[in-house]
Amino acid sequence: MKFTPAKPPLTGETLDTLTARLKERGEPAFRAKQILEWLYKKRARSWDDMTNLSKPLRAWLDETFELLPLSLVHGKQSLDVTDKLLLELGDKSLIETVVIRAPQEGVGLEHSRKTICISTQVGCAMGCKFCASGLAGLKRDLNAGEIVAQLLHVCYREDARTERARAELVSFDNIVVMGMGEPLANYEAITRALTIINADWGLGFGARRITLSTSGLVPNIIKLADEPVGVRLAISLHGATNEVRQQIMPVNKAYPLEKLIPAIKTFSEKHGRMVTLEFILIEDVNDSFDQAEKLRDIALDVHAHVNLIPYNTVEGLPWKRPSITRQEKFADVLRKARVSVTLRREKGHDIDAACGQLRLKTEKDRETAAL
Ligand code: SAH
Ligand code: SF4
Repeated sequence: MKFTPAKPPLTGETLDTLTARLKERGEPAFRAKQILEWLYKKRARSWDDMTNLSKPLRAWLDETFELLPLSLVHGKQSLDVTDKLLLELGDKSLIETVVIRAPQEGVGLEHSRKTICISTQVGCAMGCKFCASGLAGLKRDLNAGEIVAQLLHVCYREDARTERARAELVSFDNIVVMGMGEPLANYEAITRALTIINADWGLGFGARRITLSTSGLVPNIIKLADEPVGVRLAISLHGATNEVRQQIMPVNKAYPLEKLIPAIKTFSEKHGRMVTLEFILIEDVNDSFDQAEKLRDIALDVHAHVNLIPYNTVEGLPWKRPSITRQEKFADVLRKARVSVTLRREKGHDIDAACGQLRLKTEKDRETAAL
């Protein structure tokens, strides 16, 4: 499922590809860097903002590239900690990008840590039973430029209220690839986007502050371990036995635990860093004592951190989160074995849950946006 834009987005170019394009036009080698600096550091919003480029070059750039492949339809800041950007793509599809603020003691929300949750596909083909993204299937992959542009939109928004723009820095602390879509099912685009996000000539954002979450596409986990951009990895486990996992995650048929677990080990051995196992707690599905024990054993085996996420209800789906007592009991099984575990309870503060909830209600949102 491919969407071919009329003009490729500038946000999808690497320094090499842009240099090559400009060279065909007889431009000197430094020109590409200059243009990317306008885009990522000086936050130029139009070709005419790039004042040290000649007019004919600006005209050529305008004919050749789309400066930004996404436009902001609607930015909604909730009273608590999330800020949602509804963005429209070239084919009118809609995606959401979320800014999540983690309040820190003694400082206002403006100075809190900010995590950006980005999407990689419109919809998702993986069909996890509990997830709203999968409900309507996959509409299409995002291209690298569309993935990167989500972050630029966040920069524009944050620049308007912080001082950091002047220092040409991005104004957020972490990126989580946990929005709509399965990133490893859109491998070329996400790895190219990560290169651009990380590079000095791009957003210059540290790879160790980026976490990619996958439902467990084993061959691509192994491939990712060899990519030069060393991002952190989170695995959506959600079931500690094949029996339970298979009920809610169809991907487990192709890549059951006996394949997934060695892939996680390969990844963490190559990176020398802990992988995170995400485990949504769903009442009467995966919240038993037996599941807690099995999850504990897996976590100890792969030496992973465990992130327990109380399920966020999705309209039209039957699942519920367990009681707080039951959540605590589950977590205690892991804590007792000294597994590193987090269980967040405040709804809006849970980054993963907020991302998990980042699901398209396209038409509804469009209506809201039109108001
Ligand atoms: N496709 C990737 C990344 C996007 S989903 C993946 O599955 O890992 C990001 C996270 O949100 C996943 O851990 C997913 O399982 C979780 N999630 C999905 N629906 C959720 C819900 N209703 N409540 C809480 N978390 C949810
Ligand atoms: Fe897709 Fe992830 Fe949702 Fe599963 S949990 S349907 S892989 S977005």
